[in-house]
Amino acid sequence: MTGRLSILGLGPGSAAQRTPEVEAALAEATDLIGYLPYVERVSPRPGLRRHASDNRVELDRARHALELAQAGARVAVVSGGDPGVFAMASAVFEAVEHGDPAWRALDIQVLPGISAMFAAAARVGAPLGHDFCALSLSDNLKPWPLIEQRLAAAAGAGSVIALYNPISRARPWQLGAALDLLRQHLPGETPVIFATAVTRPDERIVIADLAEAQATSADMRTLVMIGTAATRVVARGEGAAPWVYAPRSVGS
Ligand code: SAH
Repeated sequence: MTGRLSILGLGPGSAAQRTPEVEAALAEATDLIGYLPYVERVSPRPGLRRHASDNRVELDRARHALELAQAGARVAVVSGGDPGVFAMASAVFEAVEHGDPAWRALDIQVLPGISAMFAAAARVGAPLGHDFCALSLSDNLKPWPLIEQRLAAAAGAGSVIALYNPISRARPWQLGAALDLLRQHLPGETPVIFATAVTRPDERIVIADLAEAQATSADMRTLVMIGTAATRVVARGEGAAPWVYAPRSVGS
């Protein structure tokens, strides 16, 4: 059998936000590799071996996937959201670049998924409708001063900021520090969106002004979006959350 490696994105949670091409790759896979909560999102079936691992062993997991594909398996490496956004696709290519030269000839494909920032944006309106950037707040893979520098540059550039990995048990203070830093660069009325567990049963959306935004509104399943001075909030009727959007034109 000729091996194949599909690096695929499961979307934010709901199976309705998973692409047909991802479903097809999962249906033909012999081996499923990923961080345990993502592997658990794929229904077990006969003929599908599951290799779940801890979150911090991305490169080992990538090498394992490449070895299995080299031996003829049809391997699906799964990430939440999109596999190219703070996820496994980079780890696989890093392993290819530094690993067995024969891995370069393998049949590897990346199948996109709906990233958390797009699922979250769709829930509240169109906050990413103009220029935006995505930053990970995790200082596991980069130093904190670099994160501060990027936050300040993004805010100064008038970019909406989608913040991934805002907080975790091991990283309890970073989001509070990031919000404090952003308050020095942006007006207090700037809208901030906390979108938690989007498309899952316990989904929760909180919209606050930057002046009042609290890190306690986030957990490790939250995507935080920081608007700009141009971001609009459109109030709706009693009990309905407002729409938040970025106008199509700015600065003219
Ligand atoms: N590859 C993923 C991101 C992995 S990093 C993607 O493209 O979405 C993990 C972070 O993604 C979480 O800390 C959180 O910030 C965000 N995230 C993942 N799923 C989410 C969801 N359903 N709702 C809100 N944020 C989510």
